[in-house]
Parts: sequence; C-alpha cells; structure tokens
Amino acid sequence: MQTVPCKFPVFFMSDSLENALYIVSTPIGNLDDITFRAVSVLKNVDLIGAEDTRHSRILLDHYGIDTRMFSLHDHNEQDKKNYIVDQIRQGHSVALISDAGTPLISDPGYHVASYCRELGIRVIPVPGPSAVISALSASGLPTDKFVFGGFLPVKEKALADELQQLVCEVKTYVYYESPRRILDTVRAIVHVLGAERRLVIAREMTKTFESFYDLNAGEMLAYLEEDANRLKGEFVVMIAGCCKKNDGIPAEALNLLKILNEHLPLKTSAAICAEFFHLSKNELYRQGLEEQSSRGD
Ligand code: SAM
Repeated sequence: MQTVPCKFPVFFMSDSLENALYIVSTPIGNLDDITFRAVSVLKNVDLIGAEDTRHSRILLDHYGIDTRMFSLHDHNEQDKKNYIVDQIRQGHSVALISDAGTPLISDPGYHVASYCRELGIRVIPVPGPSAVISALSASGLPTDKFVFGGFLPVKEKALADELQQLVCEVKTYVYYESPRRILDTVRAIVHVLGAERRLVIAREMTKTFESFYDLNAGEMLAYLEEDANRLKGEFVVMIAGCCKKNDGIPAEALNLLKILNEHLPLKTSAAICAEFFHLSKNELYRQGLEEQSSRGD
C-alpha cells in the first residue's frame, strides 16, 4: 500500500510519557468537554495533583482513569512543589488538574509551574476549556483586545477603584464572579460606569441552565433583581469597552462635562473633566463649545 506524505506534523499518543509537569484542562460543566489527549495524559501519567481529589474522582471515574491522585490546593501548593519536583526528577510524570477548566487560571498551580520552569523541568500544556475564553467566544463582544481581571475585589472601595479604571477603557474586560456577589457587582458597575454601559453575563456555561444575558448595566440590574433564579450558578461578567464619541472622547466624559457645565463655567468644567479622565482640556473645551452652540446658547 502506498503511503501518502502528510504536510502536517502528526503526533501519536503513546503510553509512555516524558517525565514532565502536564497542565491539563478539564471540563467547566459538561463532562464531554475534554480532549482525547487530556484523557490519554491523565491515564498515563504516574501521578495527578488535583485541587479537590473527591471532586475530580467523578471525572476520572467517568473516563475510567485510575491514576493515583494527591491533593494540591492554594493552601499546600508551596509545600507540595518540592514533592512534585522530586517525583519528576526520579523519572515520573505528573499532571495538574483543577476543579474545572484550566489550572492556574484563577486556580492553583502557579507556584508549581513557575518552580518547575525555574529548575529547567518541562512544563507541558494540555489545552482545553476555560470559562474566560468560552464566555468571550460566545458573547458577541469585541475579542480582538481583552483583559482578564480574575475575580473582582470584594471590598467596596477596592471594587470601585478597579471599575474606575474602565471608565475610558475601550477593551472588553472579563471577570469571574460568584452567585453571592453578582448583584453587588452589577450595582457597582452601574454606579461607577453608568447605566448605559453594555454588559454580557455568561451563566452556567455548558450546563443545563446555560444562559447569556446581554443588556446595558441598568437593565441588567433590574433583570437580575426581578428573579432570584437568575442569580444562581457560576458567572463570567464581561464589560464592553466604552463607546468613544467625538474625536475619541468617551461618552462618560462628555456626560460629566455636561453635568459640571450646568453649575460651573465651561473652562473649569473642562479642566476638572480632563483631570478625571486623563483627557485633553482643550479638546473637552472645544466639545463643550460645540455642545453649547448646538443647543443655541
Ligand atoms: N480555572 C477555571 C477556568 O479555567 O475557567 C476557573 C476557576 S475559578 C475558581 C471559578 C470561576 O470560573 C467561577 O466562579 C466562575 O466565575 C467561572 N466559571 C467556571 N465555570 C463556569 C461555567 N460553567 N459558567 C460560568 N462561569 C464559570
């Protein structure tokens, strides 16, 4: 039989794995969302470090994986990193998994992965699901540039400070949020970024009650307050970039300029607004004059 040369590199999954640290992504809900390679690696490594071994047992049993597990979580990661390095140096292969999605993405694994790299041990990604990418990919929001902010701060002042940075931001910002905090977070968004800012919230992705809420912040708050069932589950909050109007001046800055100018001279209003939003005073002043003349002042 003639063999056809293949122009793409072909990788075969083999039973023997290189002694290395494998960072393996697992499902974020639907157990079918795991790659063939992830299953193969988890079956063939010598050890699996899991965030919660009882939780991961369900996944491993589902795929008939009986590899030995040990627990690796935020509170023991520093202690366990030497154990992992010793295992790999003795010729074993070790995989890391978290409760859901990709380890290290708002999950344990950073200290181990960076320590292995420091010591010249290979760290091999086995890619798959992650809530941040899943949410963005289906949000309908611009994805050419985005920032992942992990979990938002809980304290009111720190939360407001974080959101304040987004006032003039044009990139899409993505945050993880818990059911306990989702309402307060949306309230803070309305307060700091205004009721008009577009939000997309991805809830319970890949699970029975998967839903995407796509509303402006004011409507989102009312929608969530209306029905307690809408607050259940796991959430990814995506904040659209601000809409720049008129020579790149964000709508929020123009709104503030308008409000200030109802009480103060335009020159002072433009100066305050420029300082607040880090914008050009002259440009704001010019916009203010245009606004006044369009109103016939
Ligand atoms: N490492 C994970 C990843 O790669 O996505 C994230 C772990 S972090 C501790 C858990 C947070 O991810 C949840 O609080 C929620 O914000 C988000 N998340 C995880 N699974 C989700 C899902 N199925 N739907 C919506 N958000 C999810």
